[in-house]
Amino acid sequence: MSVISTIAIDGPAASGKSTLGKKLADKLGYLFFDTGLMYRALTWAVLCEQLELSNETAVSNLAATIEIDIRTPSQADGRNCDILVNGEDVTWQIRSPEVDANVSVVSAYPGVRTAMMVLQRRIGHRGRVVMVGRDIGTVVMPDADIKFYLDASLDERARRRYEELLLRGQEADLHEITQAMRLRDQIDSTRQVAPLRPAEDAIILNSDGLEADQVLQQVLDLVNSA
Ligand code: C5P
Repeated sequence: MSVISTIAIDGPAASGKSTLGKKLADKLGYLFFDTGLMYRALTWAVLCEQLELSNETAVSNLAATIEIDIRTPSQADGRNCDILVNGEDVTWQIRSPEVDANVSVVSAYPGVRTAMMVLQRRIGHRGRVVMVGRDIGTVVMPDADIKFYLDASLDERARRRYEELLLRGQEADLHEITQAMRLRDQIDSTRQVAPLRPAEDAIILNSDGLEADQVLQQVLDLVNSA
């Protein structure tokens, strides 16, 4: 087996890439880095500071100065890590429907992407990392040792997000979630900078109807035989 040190996983919302990435990283003893958390944390801060979402300059300036920290979990409440924004624990707040509804607009700004990418590359280039997002294989780590693109149907992805929210005791409406996810996919995949798409050399997988461990096994087999 060649040494696979950098692993990129991209794909649309709720395709199962974070679950896969975390399990894979644990199995290999690598760092799991979910880049979506950074865009979510920034979006949460934009909403908190009541910045005009359409004010690209203000949002980009915030991206350049905000302190986002991702740390090992301090509580056993289902979190994979703690997310701190300027020292405040926002781990669950960044999963809110408000953040879901606005994150794609924030993350489409070139100034935002540059600020986030600098940190992502710094961590990625240390190696022994599973990095998950939308543009990891295409832009952030185009030289990753192996790239996966994990897809699933919109219906299945919306249902997963719906069940996640119910499990956390939050109110949820499946129809609304489906509509919001469709819109987010559309913005993410049609934006000018770093749109969501598989890298040319990515291995494309579909998680429809599969348990997380079945997807993990497929990926482990591919990593081990690479
Ligand atoms: O993966 P998750 O659904 O948490 O990502 C939230 C949003 O962050 C995505 O819809 C996308 O707009 C943005 N994102 C991105 N590039 C990444 C990761 C996430 O633009 N690498």
